[in-house]
Amino acid sequence: MRIVFLGPPGAGKGTQCERLLGHLHIPHLSTGNLLRQAIKEQTSTGLLAEQFMSAGQLVPDPIILAMVGEWLEKPEAQAGALFDGFPRTVPQAQALDDYLNHRGTPLNVALELKVSDEVVIQRIASRGRADDNPKIVAERLKSYWNQTRPLLDYYHRQGLLEVIDGLGTPDDVFQRIKDVLVRRGGTNCQPRNAAVGKAASSG
Ligand code: AMP
Repeated sequence: MRIVFLGPPGAGKGTQCERLLGHLHIPHLSTGNLLRQAIKEQTSTGLLAEQFMSAGQLVPDPIILAMVGEWLEKPEAQAGALFDGFPRTVPQAQALDDYLNHRGTPLNVALELKVSDEVVIQRIASRGRADDNPKIVAERLKSYWNQTRPLLDYYHRQGLLEVIDGLGTPDDVFQRIKDVLVRRGGTNCQPRNAAVGKAASSG
């Protein structure tokens, strides 16, 4: 399965992604993780990206797309993917679609983890990550609202959007996600299950 996971910072996306990965056994593409790794290794991408990230702004599309393109070429990336924190702009989403459609393995679903703006602000204020100071948080939310929210429409128009209520315990939320995936044909989500063997193992 190829799943895009959308939601504002503070929606609980990290927790749910982790659970989903444990459940589905598909590769995880987190552009945030790749960027943090690049910064740690002080690569040219890392050095460039750091300025934007530390200001709470999105890293420019060409940098992200080069990085993701490289990731998608990996053999393990052929088995499906959980796209986490990517795409974040409409051009990124279009580029991903072009790539996946060309390969004959389109997206299966876009999950939106939905919580109100008020709840997001409350949650993020109590999280304490290095990039969580109030000014940067405000910037990151602004990036989400202005640049990433239009993706909800983009995926809705394609019939791919599933809205998940992000309120409740992590168990509640995860159950909603699993229900949606079953409905979307992810069935029991075992990639090599005998009953769905061939179709599922191709991703
Ligand atoms: P994340 O860990 O996904 O919250 O990402 C942390 C930061 O990395 C974001 O605030 C952005 O500055 C940057 N970033 C991660 N993914 C992307 C993306 N797909 N497009 C642009 N910037 C990104």
